[in-house]
Amino acid sequence: MDKYDKIIDLTKRRGFLWNSFEIYGGIAGFFDYGPLGAILKNNVINTWRKHYIVNEGFYEIDSPTVTPYEVLKASGHVENFTDPLVECKDCLESFRADHIIEENIDVDTEGKTLQELQEMIEKNNIRCPKCGGEFKDVSTFNLMFATSIGPGGKRAAFMRPETAQGIFIQFKRISQFFRNKLPYGAVQIGKAYRNEISPRQGVIRLREFTQAEGEFFIDSRKKENFEKFESVKDMVLPLLSGKNQENESLSAEEKIVRMSLSDAVKNGIIAHEAIAYYIAVTKKFLMEIGIDESKLRFRQHLPNEMAHYAADCWDAELYTDRYGWIECVGVADRTNYDLLAHMKNSGDDLSVFVELDEDKEVEAYEIELNYKLVGRTFKGDAKVLEESLKELDDKKMEELVEALETEGKYVLKTCKRDFEILKEYLTAKKVKKIVKGEKIIPHVIEPSYGIDRITYCVMEHAFKEDEDRTVMGFSNAVSPIKVGVFPLVNKEGMPEIAMDLKNKLRENGLIAEYDDSGAIGRRYMRMDEVGTPFCITIDGETLKDRSVTIRERDSREQFRIPINEVVPYIKDKL
Ligand SMILES: [Zn+2]
Repeated sequence: MDKYDKIIDLTKRRGFLWNSFEIYGGIAGFFDYGPLGAILKNNVINTWRKHYIVNEGFYEIDSPTVTPYEVLKASGHVENFTDPLVECKDCLESFRADHIIEENIDVDTEGKTLQELQEMIEKNNIRCPKCGGEFKDVSTFNLMFATSIGPGGKRAAFMRPETAQGIFIQFKRISQFFRNKLPYGAVQIGKAYRNEISPRQGVIRLREFTQAEGEFFIDSRKKENFEKFESVKDMVLPLLSGKNQENESLSAEEKIVRMSLSDAVKNGIIAHEAIAYYIAVTKKFLMEIGIDESKLRFRQHLPNEMAHYAADCWDAELYTDRYGWIECVGVADRTNYDLLAHMKNSGDDLSVFVELDEDKEVEAYEIELNYKLVGRTFKGDAKVLEESLKELDDKKMEELVEALETEGKYVLKTCKRDFEILKEYLTAKKVKKIVKGEKIIPHVIEPSYGIDRITYCVMEHAFKEDEDRTVMGFSNAVSPIKVGVFPLVNKEGMPEIAMDLKNKLRENGLIAEYDDSGAIGRRYMRMDEVGTPFCITIDGETLKDRSVTIRERDSREQFRIPINEVVPYIKDKL
């Protein structure tokens, strides 16, 4: 049994993780959280909320998981959210082409085309691992679960592949909420779906999973000089840069450089302060939920693995015994890719007006229409033309004036109709104008967290085997049960006192469990195994002086305090 199996065994027995649909044989890529697992996961999420909503000032939104086709067409997921697929000609089993190749030969398939993967399979005569049969040609498989809205499948839709899009398409409302004052951001926590071809990594690769994503909208000129960066600039982190990953002369250890964030930005390793800042927030969150610092590193995406929208991206990777380093958080600069795409596809203006630090005087064309002529030519549409001309930005205006000079005419396309404008319709002259601001499409910095992988790593990093016990050394922030309460013996009024104390702890918002079965040592062990930080025993002394024994999980130290100080003591420690 390796560590992974031991943890899965414990988590099944003690109600953390269960195979979904188990009585029907189970399906890979789906897991249930049992009673303690659900609390653990929610504690992870609530700690995340504390960091992003309370500390960072984001607000949470909650949008549908069913997403119409147009949204994901615009975002690029219909085209790009794919994996390479091979099927066996004989047993028809499906596999990920890149995984099958990497399992057979020592090669990196990242960024390879279908054709290149196909050639690798043929050249190395790679066969079906199940039956030894030959593969059909490599094809692409879209990883979104398709569905439809309403009867008859008329409105195509998908289960969302990420929570981010829900934020982008509500950008106008979010901007309005923040009164258009950049920077601002929204977060979303919820289910996302990825129809994995053949998930074989247990709880690490799920088909339905929980994401927590933040979209931080920012004026792109402010990425370099990010106000909050000052507070984290000295944080030192283990960084695995793209450059070092590609440097063959370095050993695996040498590739990872421990460096302060300010040095990393100064040396051009991290693209800018805004990304560096959210890398720091990520570290703080992971430490609070009990991730082992020695099992955390930040790895930069290589150019060929960068998502279709990203300009720079760093993953927080956590070390697991069986699967090695796994990606748990991505901090990406998505630029204005998504907003531009939705602007283009929806026809809605998603720009934000940004005030300049000081008014600027510029030279710009001002137009005077020959109303008589224009009215005669365009009749009722003359007003549309006038309005459209007012809307032209400086660049378009220059274009128009130049075209009239050189060609004597210009075609202006508007949403209502095209106008052929002749030179004699207007006079244009340059005037000095005071400009107070300008319209921009904000860029977005996105921290994106895979809550299930993180929750699994919390369990694995907390898992300890001493010679006489198994302990889940959860951090106080995430431990599901906070206090175990035991009567030493089931008589002399001890059960009643213990039950009262348990109730009092619960009234104070602390999850406490009462346990009166078996020897006291067994009861401690049961609580250690689910990571309960404190146990309290009601014993003979309690009857005499109203004091109880508190025992701490990690140190196993025991000491006595008055029963009426238990609640404040525990609250203080948590
Ligand atoms: Zn086969």
